[in-house]
Amino acid sequence: MTPLEKLIRELIVSEGPLPLDRYMSLCLGHPEHGYYMARNPFGETGDFVTAPEVSQIFGELIGVWCIAAWTAMGQPSTFHLVELGPGRGTLMKDMLRTARRAAPQFAEAALLHLVETSPVLRQMQREMLGVDAIWHDRLADVPEGPLIVIANEFFDAIPIRQFEKRDDRWHERVVGLKDDGLVLGLIAADLGPQGAEGDIVEFAPARSAIAREIGERLSRQPGASLIIDYGHLASALGDTLQAMRRHGFVSILESPGHCDLTSHVDFEALGKALTDGGAAAMPGLTQRGFLLAMGLEQRTAMLAAKSDARTRAMLERQMTRLAGESQMGNLFKVLAAVSPGLATPYPFGRS
Ligand code: SAH
Repeated sequence: MTPLEKLIRELIVSEGPLPLDRYMSLCLGHPEHGYYMARNPFGETGDFVTAPEVSQIFGELIGVWCIAAWTAMGQPSTFHLVELGPGRGTLMKDMLRTARRAAPQFAEAALLHLVETSPVLRQMQREMLGVDAIWHDRLADVPEGPLIVIANEFFDAIPIRQFEKRDDRWHERVVGLKDDGLVLGLIAADLGPQGAEGDIVEFAPARSAIAREIGERLSRQPGASLIIDYGHLASALGDTLQAMRRHGFVSILESPGHCDLTSHVDFEALGKALTDGGAAAMPGLTQRGFLLAMGLEQRTAMLAAKSDARTRAMLERQMTRLAGESQMGNLFKVLAAVSPGLATPYPFGRS
C-alpha cells in the first residue's frame, strides 16, 4: 500500500467516500505524496512522453505563434509570458531559443512566469531555462499586464467530477472503501432529469475556473492564449478518467500517488469559460491541423537537409508522432483565445 493510499483510507473512514476531484487532487497534488510533487514523470524512463519531449519543433512552432500574437498585441515593450504546468521546461526553452533568433525584441520584452506546484519540476525548469523566471502556485498570483498564456497537457491534470445515471437518477462517482480496499461507488446527486440509464458525464469546474480567469485577464488587457491537450472539441458523454504508469494504462485506484491521473479535456467547455471571462475564443483545431499550418513539414525538411540519414529518419518519426492521424495528431486539440478586438490569430478561424 502506498503511503497516500493509507491516508486516503483514513480520510474515507473519517469523512466518507471522496468525490473524484478530491481523490484526483490528492493523488496528483498532495504536498508530500502527490504524483507530481516528488518525481520527474517524463520521458522513456518515466510514465509518459509529451509533445515538447518528442521534438524541439513543437516548441519552436509555438514560439512562432506567440511572436505573431505579440505583434498583433502591438508589440508591448514588456509583457507576461506565462506557462501553466511547464513540466521539464522544454517547451519554454525551445520557444525562447526561436524567439531570440527570430524576434529578439519579443525575447527582451517577455517577463517569464511559470505556474507550477511541484518543487522537483520547478528545480528542473530552473536548470533547463537558465534565465530569470518567477514561479507561482496559481495563475491568480501572476501580476496584471499584457500577457500570453500557454499550456500544454496542463488542463488534463486538473481534477474532474463524474456523474452516472443509474436506476433512473443521477449519482456522483466516488472513491469508497469495501472489504478494506478502495472501490468506486455511487452517491445520489441532483443533476436534473436528462440522460439515459448508464450515461456518464464529466464536469471540470476547476478547469473552467482557470479558463475563465484567462478570459477575464484577456478582457482587461491585450493578450492571447494557446491551450493544447488531448480531448474532444465538442462536449461528449463518457468516462475518460485514466491512470498511467510506465507508458501503460492501469486502474485509477492502483497505487495512489504513484500513477499519473488525467482525463480528456472538454474543449467546448474550456472555450465557453474563456468566452464567459470576456475573451474571444476561436473554434479549436486538431494538433495535426495546427502544426501542419504552422510549418511542421517545412521545419522538419530544413533540419533534415542538414542531417545524416539516421537523424533524417528520426525527424520523420517525430513528425509522424506529433501529427500522425492515429498518433497525437487527431487526439490532441489546440484552442486559442485573444483579447476582444484583436485579429483572429493564424491558423484559427472565427466561428
Ligand atoms: N507542459 C509540460 C508538462 C505537462 S504535465 C509538457 O508538455 O511536457 C503537467 C504539468 O502541470 C506538470 O508540470 C505538473 O507539475 C503541473 N501541474 C499539475 N497540476 C498543477 C496545478 N494544479 N497547478 C500548477 N501546476 C500543475
